[in-house]
Amino acid sequence: MTTPLLFEAPASAPDAGFWAALARVKLNDDKLSQNAMETTARISTAMRAGTSRAVSLDAFAFDDVDEETRASASAAREWVTRGRVRCLNTREAMTTFDRDAMTREMGASLLEDIVSGAAEREPERLRTFGAIAYACLKSWSFTYWFCFPAATSETFKVESSPVVVMSNDDANDAAVVETCERWIANGGACAWLVSEDGREARALTEYVAGTRGGEKMRLAFADSCCAATHPGWALRNLAVLASLRWNARELDVVCVRSRKGRVAAEACVKFTMSIPEFDAEKMKVVGWERNARGKTGPRRVDLGVSMDPTQLATQAVDLNLKLMRWRLLPELNQEKLAATKCLLIGAGTLGCAVARTIMGWGIKHITFVDSGRVSYSNPVRQSLFEFKDCFEGGAHKAEAAAKKLVDIFPGVTSKGVMMSIPMPGHSVGEESKSSVFRDIDDLEALIDEHDVVYVLTDTRESRWLPTVICADKNKVCINAALGFNTYVVMRHGCGVDAASDSRLGCYFCNDVMAPANSTRDRTLDQQCTVTRPGLAPIASALAAELMVALLHSNDGHATAPPDRDGDSNAPESEPSPLGVVPHQIRGSVAGFTQTLFDAPSFPRCTACSEKIVKMYRDDRDAFLSRVFDDPKTLEDATGLTELLGAVDADDAEWLDDGDSEGDDF
Ligand SMILES: [Zn+2]
Repeated sequence: MTTPLLFEAPASAPDAGFWAALARVKLNDDKLSQNAMETTARISTAMRAGTSRAVSLDAFAFDDVDEETRASASAAREWVTRGRVRCLNTREAMTTFDRDAMTREMGASLLEDIVSGAAEREPERLRTFGAIAYACLKSWSFTYWFCFPAATSETFKVESSPVVVMSNDDANDAAVVETCERWIANGGACAWLVSEDGREARALTEYVAGTRGGEKMRLAFADSCCAATHPGWALRNLAVLASLRWNARELDVVCVRSRKGRVAAEACVKFTMSIPEFDAEKMKVVGWERNARGKTGPRRVDLGVSMDPTQLATQAVDLNLKLMRWRLLPELNQEKLAATKCLLIGAGTLGCAVARTIMGWGIKHITFVDSGRVSYSNPVRQSLFEFKDCFEGGAHKAEAAAKKLVDIFPGVTSKGVMMSIPMPGHSVGEESKSSVFRDIDDLEALIDEHDVVYVLTDTRESRWLPTVICADKNKVCINAALGFNTYVVMRHGCGVDAASDSRLGCYFCNDVMAPANSTRDRTLDQQCTVTRPGLAPIASALAAELMVALLHSNDGHATAPPDRDGDSNAPESEPSPLGVVPHQIRGSVAGFTQTLFDAPSFPRCTACSEKIVKMYRDDRDAFLSRVFDDPKTLEDATGLTELLGAVDADDAEWLDDGDSEGDDF
């Protein structure tokens, strides 16, 4: 008696690692392409009573299949099967995608594999699969639909004798089980033949029509289905192969399954199937997986809810940047930005705003240096502080800012260093000398540890020492300063050792006076932050963009500024994929204007000139002590005093923007 043979439907089991890999491939390689991506999955026999095995896809699904992959699969008693996944660009595409065309394509290639004999040599080909997916990488949710193509036709109705559970009590069954165990343990393919006496296993290619020397061959296959009453879906395409390649009309089948990591008789079933002729002309392909509700439709997995929020934030921040690489900025070097360490000297209005903007660019390492505490006037302008930071005398600015950065984005490494920057004209008493020089040691170490130094302090003289150290150490140094209406954002030129006539200037190069104590004899409005509130965000944003452009240029801080006489808009003249890398950006919100300037370093500069750096190097502590006591030391040393004696100061080149001298910030 024969009955129509029913097959258990296949199931897909992509794990979280698979989705992470898919997201990575989509973001970094596939981008806007919706081409089918080569993918692998693993299949195995059913392992436990009551549980069928799904086709599993993991983090390695997009890797090339090599010997090692096969060996590890075989060691795990698994087989690697190949398929293709298309990652669609929109959720809508999931419904409008031409699935019929995809099934026809998969069916044709399956038939080709069967007819050509490829599937006989490599039966894993009969378990190929395809999938379409939409990855919403903002929420880490994935919509997907797998298809395990099975060839069939209207006249192809496989029937079978009753399905029988095998038993070790039957000597032939016991021999079959032993042979199949050996076949799997030796890394054999996922379908094979077993001799009539059950003692020998052979590859499918060794099938001889009907018999082999009068002997009846049995078809065995690794069955992921656990049911005692029917086989798994993998037998469908094997039946088509038996019909087309072997012209078999009747075949004994063993569904091989395991328990406790071995082929087990009580898990295996056997039957004889009768196979009609397969009409390839009228072939249909079925196999789209049903969704969790058993309906025709895609499945959905939401990993966002189960992911660690910190990791989710990190991925989401990277996502915004990675998406830039899809169309707008393929050259974006995220790895470089993520590895760039920024030191922000000053955690006030500018420091807070610079930190937030560079974090948006994917900078993950930010250190603040500041000696101040948060006061009641700060939070409205200084975006990293809140009212409660002002209590009990105020939190230390550097520490509060660093803590807030981590609150905003836990993926950032941030610390705050309490330190006041020693300044020319601010004498240091004997008793505090040793602690001041320890601070200078610390400042040097901090500058050494970082790649970019932002000078964002609130007085002109506090910018002096970091400028000298950066000139000494050839560090990228970016300076932003504000007046009431005006701002200047600039990058300092290379260090003094970068022997170049065209070395760009520093913040002090345009001045003919050494920085001195600017807070002395000042009225309250001259000492405090008196500036239009929009200036700091504008200048900070420019300082961030300037750094990113600089980091993307081949020559780093040696990059020439745009040629103001030439055609700087021509794309080929742009040294960075982000555009030009200016030396100085000066703007005014009084006239809503912005202009680029560049100026070479000034040989008599009181901060970045060779003379000053040499004195600093030769006898740092003695030199600095003199400068702290009397900033005139700097003018004398560089010859400015002499120069000023000869030239009326008013005639000297003096880029005064009117009120920048009070650059309080
Ligand atoms: Zn200079």
